Amino acid sequence: MNAIARYERVSDDFIAKLARTRTLLRLAARDHAPRRSGGPARVSQASSLGAEDIVITHLINRMKLNIGVFVLDTGQLHPETLQLLERLKASSLAPVEVFKPLAHEVVQFVRREGNDAMYRSIELRKTCCQLRKMEPLERALKDKTAWITGLRREQSGARAEVPLIDTSDKHRLKFNPLADWRWGDVWHYILTFAVNYNPLHDQFYPSIGCEPCTRAVALGEDFRAGRWWWEGKSVKECGLHVKQAPLAQAVAA
Ligand code: SF4
Repeated sequence: MNAIARYERVSDDFIAKLARTRTLLRLAARDHAPRRSGGPARVSQASSLGAEDIVITHLINRMKLNIGVFVLDTGQLHPETLQLLERLKASSLAPVEVFKPLAHEVVQFVRREGNDAMYRSIELRKTCCQLRKMEPLERALKDKTAWITGLRREQSGARAEVPLIDTSDKHRLKFNPLADWRWGDVWHYILTFAVNYNPLHDQFYPSIGCEPCTRAVALGEDFRAGRWWWEGKSVKECGLHVKQAPLAQAVAA
């Protein structure tokens, strides 16, 4: 059974959710358009190439919005994810940029701490995430006034309050246009539009990150149980999305 057959369950209000998502993306493109004609958009989508992110990229392309897409290639992604990245680069109208960590910093860290440092302490794991994700993210968001993510409230307790527009960072808005989508809605969209997805989802990986830090989940396990599983019930975040506004900010239609 593949991921579509396993997860696809459309919500009664899916059409309204999809309309709201489209409105948000249009708003993001309009309010963060390039400063000058032909210049780069000031809004980008952060894509992990997971199910939610491929839906957003598909919408950006279908709606022909002036929004770029960026991927953080940590150097530790699964081969399946890298292959999907190549397919996306070949098919996307929206430009897809790849940001990698600074090679010398990674080399120094691995020489000092080894390839398995993330398993030895949360501190070392966070240092690895800082080098491989956070620093490239800062470069990706430089000059951006907004970014778009695939965060959903259903993903974890830590994300239960994710707003549609996060205004907690005064320098940059964060749009979460799928905040109120259910997992079944995501797969309904993928099925309806035949969106190319990561085959790891067929192998019980609902949330896909770096290869050493992601495992498949068992039936009944939490959505993000496969991320940094050896850390027990700690907040399963790498730092990319730890700051969130306390209240959801509704978007006027
Ligand atoms: S998820 Fe794991 S491999 Fe990836 S950057 Fe964080 S600690 Fe390193």
